[in-house]
Amino acid sequence: MADSATSRHPLEDLQKLAKEWGVPVLSDEFARLMDINDPLAGFREKFHYPKMGDLPLVRRVDGQPPVDPSEDGIYLCGNSLGLMPREVRNQLDTQMSQWARFGVFGHRHGFMPWAFCDEWLLQDMSDLVGALPEETCVMNSLTVNLHLCLTAFYQPAGARTKILLESQAFPSDHYAVESQIRQRGLDPAAEMICLKPRDGEHCLRTEDILQTIQSRGQEIALVFFSGVHYYTGQLFDIAAITEVARASGCRVGWDLAHAVGNVPLRLHDWDVDFAAWCTYKYLNCGAGCIAGAFVHRRHLGGGSRERLPRLEGWWGHRIETRFDMTNQMEPDETAGQFRVTNPSMIQAACVRASLDVFKLAGMQQIRCKSLLLTAYLEHLLKHRVPSCSVISPRDPQARGAQLSLLLACPVERVLSELEARGVACDERKPNVIRVAPAPLYNSFGDVLRFVKVLADVMPTDLN
Ligand SMILES: *Cc1c(COP(=O)(O)O)cnc(C)c1O
Repeated sequence: MADSATSRHPLEDLQKLAKEWGVPVLSDEFARLMDINDPLAGFREKFHYPKMGDLPLVRRVDGQPPVDPSEDGIYLCGNSLGLMPREVRNQLDTQMSQWARFGVFGHRHGFMPWAFCDEWLLQDMSDLVGALPEETCVMNSLTVNLHLCLTAFYQPAGARTKILLESQAFPSDHYAVESQIRQRGLDPAAEMICLKPRDGEHCLRTEDILQTIQSRGQEIALVFFSGVHYYTGQLFDIAAITEVARASGCRVGWDLAHAVGNVPLRLHDWDVDFAAWCTYKYLNCGAGCIAGAFVHRRHLGGGSRERLPRLEGWWGHRIETRFDMTNQMEPDETAGQFRVTNPSMIQAACVRASLDVFKLAGMQQIRCKSLLLTAYLEHLLKHRVPSCSVISPRDPQARGAQLSLLLACPVERVLSELEARGVACDERKPNVIRVAPAPLYNSFGDVLRFVKVLADVMPTDLN
């Protein structure tokens, strides 16, 4: 398969393969051949992939043949909630039986002893985000981690008081920022710079972000963006934005909810100050599962010049003396100093199962398939559903696995017709549906079936 390191458009790779095989990219046969030749094809079997008969909104549609309940659904919603790795059940069984057999001794004995269960995840989690294990921690859930990081890193002082973020930041991030500003006795309306795309555009241009930082940098205490935007699927240039923001004296934090497990990341090398992410989207750890956070090494340990104003709890205490109960806080020297509370072994077991899958597949290989799969989706849409327009970036390097489709017709109706036919994707008001082929378990065949169904239900398209 194609090499993601080249800057060639993945569509060219698809066309090259089509030529080699002597079949058009738009043919059913092409999807079949892509799946046969997909090095990640076997990973679908590592997940529970929903069947038509289990999807709650599937129904018999007038004029259509009855649904075969044993057929696979069309699950393109991994950006919202990833599918369950089969291995989760085994990992949970292990923990349940250790609890049953050992009681309190499970804290220090058995597989992934509970007192350290988060630490068993650090090596593989840090690999996924391009961090050192000591810069990574697994704790709480996303918005809580954002608050912990913002508390430490948003330190308005003098003229430098503002936070720069996207105008369409995810609501939880927006509220977290607003409330953090209020906590400091400041006015969110005055302190938030919410950057809007240019008129008529859906995505922010890197040049405009950099220009804003350069011209207003002296007022900005913190630049806080999402790595991949939830609505448009835009992958921001984390390296460039971080570099310019730091050169302007700002702190820089990233919400990686839609980026982790989706695109390769190099938080340490990019010199990011902090980041946080959830684990239930592309990481497939289950709704509400324990989340991740990153704090760059320069802020940690004996080498750091500053003591960050963290919120503290006993789990951030160095392990050697944590249980001495002296009430003398000795912060852990790693990002683990941000922990406040002991982690759930049940959730850690889910993360363990998921990280094993990622480790086996490799993020480079995942991204490589993702580029092809998403380009294939875009190409089919262009030819088979011309009335919907893609608002995600056209440049494959500037997006992840998701395409956001702007519909010219009422989106609720289209979505309910899609759901009736076994499609799981989601709607974002006012009139966008988000479609995300997740390379670990989605096939080229899934994408083809989706586009055919969409063409069927769109009132304006001939197919
Ligand atoms: C999914 C998502 C969240 C969800 O936050 P939780 O604390 O996990 O409920 C927050 N921010 C962004 C950008 C997201 O995509």
